Amino acid sequence: MNVDTTPGNGTKRSLITGGAGFIGSHLTEHLLNLGHEVVVLDDLSTGSEDNLAGFRDHPRLRFVCGSVCDFDAVESCMAGVEAIYHLAAAVGVFTILSKPLESLHTNLKGTEMVLEAARRHEVPILMASTSEVYGKNNSEQLSEGEDRIIGSPLVSRWSYAEAKALDETLVFLYSQEWGVRSVIVRLFNTVGPRQSGRYGMVIPRFVAQAIAGEPLTVFGDGQQIRSFCHVFDVVPALVALLEDEASHGTVYNLGSSEALSITTLAQKIIAATGSRSEIVKIPYEEAYGPGFEDMLRRVPDCARARGQIDFQPRHSLQQIINSVIAEHRAARG
Ligand code: UDP
Repeated sequence: MNVDTTPGNGTKRSLITGGAGFIGSHLTEHLLNLGHEVVVLDDLSTGSEDNLAGFRDHPRLRFVCGSVCDFDAVESCMAGVEAIYHLAAAVGVFTILSKPLESLHTNLKGTEMVLEAARRHEVPILMASTSEVYGKNNSEQLSEGEDRIIGSPLVSRWSYAEAKALDETLVFLYSQEWGVRSVIVRLFNTVGPRQSGRYGMVIPRFVAQAIAGEPLTVFGDGQQIRSFCHVFDVVPALVALLEDEASHGTVYNLGSSEALSITTLAQKIIAATGSRSEIVKIPYEEAYGPGFEDMLRRVPDCARARGQIDFQPRHSLQQIINSVIAEHRAARG
């Protein structure tokens, strides 16, 4: 994406919490391209200023380093803000498992603080939730009304799903009781430039392993099913949903329906890189620690978003894989 550098002129100002993260930085860039002013609030825990590198000095961008759990920091961003995109959260399975208490705190308290700011300033808010809330529900295609099937609250992985589900309830109740205009999106696996494999995400990890000629580490038996959506398809949908008042008051799945097993994904990445890497299967216990539970199938039904904003992912899985490979090769020089 190319960033337009003309200064704003009475343009809309949006706050993006987590705006230096993977999805947040693409949303920041997209809103700048649309002519918006953007305030980014990010504590740089998993986000990075490198993600903003191409537009860090943009005249319509203000970066605030701070936590969503700090109400004063959130308040300091609110002047003139007309829309809030709340993306700040502890993300990635590795993060949730290695810092479970801190993650739970960020994901619960952060949303409450940002919602409170939305209420006080009467600003509409989009809250990024996750397909993790469906837990172990293995439906062919998960639609928004499906039941959640969640394991024990003592299994760390589920604390993320629990926190995000409670966040959704908070948003819903703030809308009902305080009239806060809101949209919830449940993001399924999202991929694209700037995504780090450091926090567990499978495609950047497999691509890095394949390019380095190292074994691709498939966790479990590799039969678990996922679908991957390009961040360039997800980001415009976030804006379309928040800007469309008829979308408010409900929850939308956003993701791709092109599903495949993790072993097939590894094979595709080996083929696309021309790598000689092998695939090794690593038991979940070894990868994530004792008692880990995975989801066997997670594929969205996006009929609701399609009907509301004509959401249609345009990037195929092959294009997604190719773009991640191109980025990793460029970074290696
Ligand atoms: N995975 C894997 N090898 C890796 C990283 C992840 O086999 O090096 C698996 C992981 O166990 C899960 C799937 O790939 O079944 C997707 O993982 P990711 O963390 O990207 O997203 P999730 O769907 O778990 O939120």
